[in-house]
Amino acid sequence: MRADFHTHPLAHRYYYEGIRPADLTERDKKDIVCVLQLSVERGLDAVAVTDHDLALSGLWARQYALENRMPLRVVPGCECELYFMEEYVHFLALNLAHPLDYTSSTPPEELAAQVRSQGGILILAHPMAYRSEKVYRALKTTVQGVEYRNGAQELNGRLSWQKILEGDRYRGLRLHNSDYHYLKRTCSPRTMPSEQRKAYNEMDVADFVRIFGPERFSP
Ligand SMILES: [Zn+2]
Ligand SMILES: [Zn+2]
Repeated sequence: MRADFHTHPLAHRYYYEGIRPADLTERDKKDIVCVLQLSVERGLDAVAVTDHDLALSGLWARQYALENRMPLRVVPGCECELYFMEEYVHFLALNLAHPLDYTSSTPPEELAAQVRSQGGILILAHPMAYRSEKVYRALKTTVQGVEYRNGAQELNGRLSWQKILEGDRYRGLRLHNSDYHYLKRTCSPRTMPSEQRKAYNEMDVADFVRIFGPERFSP
């Protein structure tokens, strides 16, 4: 099966404004539906919706996909920004049942414990975006996986971390995700750069189910 674990249907809509909406607007919902349709057209079996510091869109997306019997398993998530080792570090919290409670000064271990208590996993997003490898070295045992390729970073010319993870014999999940921010307002995979359209993980259904649970899985 194919799974992309990092997408932003709402792009930076709430992230830069510091707003935590209590509910989604009709425009938000329309954009989320579009990214779900795009995911099906990209040939994905599963997609994680991971808007910036907002779990609401992923939780709504899962409900929508279920109610409309989409051929897509939605993993509700959130990209959390924490200030750690003098950097703003991004984490993908995946498989959330409800929103998390944190601020940028929450320690990563505390965020990891919250995510685990919901049956989720925590991933270190785009380590190539940080100043040095020290962030990865300090966090690799706190997280369950590392994004060794990221489509948005590749568009910026930042390289894969495959060799670093191999050199380090990293044992957690190694993920290749799109980090697609839906901005163009055109619901077509053709408007998606190939670095992002082709950014997904090929994985066994059994492995996916082991991590994210069997419920409501319909590839
Ligand atoms: Zn990020
Ligand atoms: Zn992102």
